[in-house]
Amino acid sequence: MNLSKRVAALTPSATLEITAKAKALKAEGHDVIALGAGEPDFNTPLHILEAAKNAMDEGLTKYTPAGGILPLKESIISKFEHDQNISYNSDEIIVCTGAKHALYTLFQVILDEGDEVIIPTPYWVSYPEQVKLAGGHPVYVEGKEEQAFKVTVDQLEEAVSSKTKAVIINSPSNPTGSIYTPDELEQIGAFCLKHDILIVSDEIYEKLVYDGAKHTSIAQLSDKLKQQTIIINGVSKSHSMTGWRIGYAAGRKEIIKAMTNLASHSTSNPTSISQYAALAAYEGSQEPVAEMKQAFEERLNTVYDKLNRIPGFTCVKPEGAFYLFPNAKEAAEKTGFNSVDDFVKGLLEEEKVALVPGSGFGSPENVRLSYATSLDVILEAIHRIERFVKAKQ
Ligand code: PLP
Repeated sequence: MNLSKRVAALTPSATLEITAKAKALKAEGHDVIALGAGEPDFNTPLHILEAAKNAMDEGLTKYTPAGGILPLKESIISKFEHDQNISYNSDEIIVCTGAKHALYTLFQVILDEGDEVIIPTPYWVSYPEQVKLAGGHPVYVEGKEEQAFKVTVDQLEEAVSSKTKAVIINSPSNPTGSIYTPDELEQIGAFCLKHDILIVSDEIYEKLVYDGAKHTSIAQLSDKLKQQTIIINGVSKSHSMTGWRIGYAAGRKEIIKAMTNLASHSTSNPTSISQYAALAAYEGSQEPVAEMKQAFEERLNTVYDKLNRIPGFTCVKPEGAFYLFPNAKEAAEKTGFNSVDDFVKGLLEEEKVALVPGSGFGSPENVRLSYATSLDVILEAIHRIERFVKAKQ
């Protein structure tokens, strides 16, 4: 049987691939350190667990409205008012089965065959695949390392065409941790308004910003930009709720209505119990969010210099998220590998450290390390990487 052309063209997620290999080695009894994870290593805070249990006890286990329960939409609206000073109505919000599914649904409703979406590199692995699944065409613009991996308007001007439908901004970024400043966002915003291009603003790492860095949403800069932007966010990273699968989109009501229609024929609704858990996440104490952020910040500041000292590694200091994205080209060359991809394979085989090759993010000279794991483990990983590089050069 032939599978559809759509899925035949899919690239498997680079993150999941390396995690699977690391798990297989672990199952064989090897002492593997996996730094591929894209999820906080903390438990979901207790009051959220309690809310989910109560929802089950109260029988809140049935279908909900396709776009999510009203109390959760209202708490999301309050969050936007509190954090970004943006006002939304409930018909401008859809709750989805994770931010990933919010993005998937969004691309399905805004793209026609051949429409282009500008994706800055390095990008989160699912953007190009989701755009392609919706019949769209990814157009890559290189976020250069010397620009802290951020794209400029001049670069965007070169990439734009009459088919450009949207541009994706992911700030703070996975995999680089870079954050766009209000000034940079103003410029990108003016470019998008000029060409009437939708802005897909993925703000899932909003709460994880370090050393005094601040997150700004492009939608908060003006009413026009709010109209031009679809914000994507969720509780996965902020509240350590990756498995609960609650994310959302906020933007123009005609887009949200189309997304809700599509959701009604695909998921029906995000899991009812998870929605009540997410409601507690936003309504309850935000202290756990601050504690997790502080732990990430401490780890970043402990490991950053050590990583940068590994021969052949150079790393732009991330300002947010929980990844380091060093350039390892020189390390690969020094150790006799043809590519950073091969270096990553060699490292896993010999030192049992699993990193994610940057090629999966459109940046083949880099590797991604997640520090969503205990400090001892990250330090041991850095020690092993250093040993690997020094032994081979
Ligand atoms: N956007 C980015 C940049 C991510 O890194 C992730 C998760 O890794 C997501 C979206 C998806 O998050 P969720 O777990 O809510 O689907």
